[in-house]
Amino acid sequence: APHQQVDVHELLDSTLVMMSKKIGTRVRVVKDYDRSLPRIPAYPGELNQVWTNLVDNAVSAMDGTGTGATLTIRTTRDDDRVLVEIGDTGPGVPPDVRDRIFDPFFTTKPVGEGTGLGLDISWRIVVGKHHGDLRVESVPGDTRFQVRLPLTASDP
Ligand code: ADP
Ligand code: MG
Repeated sequence: APHQQVDVHELLDSTLVMMSKKIGTRVRVVKDYDRSLPRIPAYPGELNQVWTNLVDNAVSAMDGTGTGATLTIRTTRDDDRVLVEIGDTGPGVPPDVRDRIFDPFFTTKPVGEGTGLGLDISWRIVVGKHHGDLRVESVPGDTRFQVRLPLTASDP
């Protein structure tokens, strides 16, 4: 289990800075942070990889959309976990691929644009390494990738 205590908001902010070129000026970024959340035990570099993957997917999903493209980063406490939601206003995850998006090499992007590894790697980092949970709630115009991370380390 991770021994370092990290500030998820610091990590999210650094990801947003790193991704600012990709996000551009067309996408509105809304941050809705619960600043009272404590630090959590986590591997910061790996969590940054998760946020980067999810933000990259969210922004790509809004590529063809008109005005009003909005990226929402929300944090809340959910029982004994921190919930981080990365939301977008894109067309959503089609129901027929919903069960496959976390599989390695699954992509709906054109050849050369997507490796299909982002969600697989994110899943392994969140679930495998942090004993958390990664899910998606999606309807057209409102897609949220939800990451739940334990507030305290479960094993010694
Ligand atoms: P890649 O981005 O290389 O395609 P990912 O593992 O990151 O691979 O994502 C797999 C697939 O999941 C994407 O190709 C896309 O079909 C779907 N997906 C991921 N994020 C979103 C999103 N925010 N909105 C709609 N579809 C998404
Ligand atoms: Mg991706």
